[in-house]
Amino acid sequence: MIPEELKQAIQSYWIAQGLSPEILEERSVSGGSINSSLLVKTSDGSFFLKYNSAAKHPQMFASEYAGLELLASSNSIRVPQPLFYHEGQQYSGLLMEFIEENSFEENFWRSFAFQLSQLHQNTRESFGLGFDNYMGSLPQSNTPSSNFVDFFIKNRLLPQLKIARDKYEITSLHIKQSERLFVELHSIFPEEKPALLHGDLWNGNFMSDEGGNPVIMDPAAYFGHREIDVAMTTMFGGFSPLFYQYYHQHHPLEKDWQDRLKYYNLYPVLIHINLFGASYLGSLEAVLDRF
Ligand code: ADP
Repeated sequence: MIPEELKQAIQSYWIAQGLSPEILEERSVSGGSINSSLLVKTSDGSFFLKYNSAAKHPQMFASEYAGLELLASSNSIRVPQPLFYHEGQQYSGLLMEFIEENSFEENFWRSFAFQLSQLHQNTRESFGLGFDNYMGSLPQSNTPSSNFVDFFIKNRLLPQLKIARDKYEITSLHIKQSERLFVELHSIFPEEKPALLHGDLWNGNFMSDEGGNPVIMDPAAYFGHREIDVAMTTMFGGFSPLFYQYYHQHHPLEKDWQDRLKYYNLYPVLIHINLFGASYLGSLEAVLDRF
């Protein structure tokens, strides 16, 4: 059930839009890892609502709303249209367009690869973004930098290493190895323009819409190396080999891109260590051991 505070906020939003839909059904949607999600059927169509207690993840929905708008404004790949967010006393929530999920059709991977490569053509002068957001349930800082390696170390690896160390999930040896890796990163990563990223492109964050077209959701958007999105797709699998083949055809990746994915994925690996504990330590050590 939609909490009363949120329901009132949504109804005020609808009134401001000149709408007065009647809520016909609220059905819980599974699959999310952080928030409660509902399909809200109304006399004016269906909506998707995510919500949580306001104190839990401050500004999470404001930044998700802004991230979805940013991705939508690139006109490259479909995202659920964000409609309204509420950061209230007790509850926060995000109302958006409901996407009817469909099975993957023949051209899905080709379209997905092409449209993601189009998203990645959107560039800016700096890496980062004008506002911070979240990666999963952990805050993600996006302080802009003209140098990708500096950005990646300061905004991605160091904050997560600090959390992991403070929680005694990693040792001072892991920190020393990371510092040795930092020195090498300048020669490991290629020169690439800042590319608009989804930022958390694992296989729970895309679907096929009613027309068989790809939709990406739940972004942690910013401008970074596009190999970050490609790397994230390999964390838990679920992407067809065709996806990589078509992506490479549309927007070729730099030579030896496969060898670099593990370095980009240090960030989500650290996030997983911080959220779920030591079961992800092996993935960290597999990369750090040679340093
Ligand atoms: P969380 O923030 O809790 O991780 P998600 O944004 O990942 O939640 O949403 C949970 C699930 O709900 C997704 O895996 C997807 O299956 C479904 N979903 C997300 N957004 C929409 C939408 N706009 N329309 C329909 N289903 C959606």
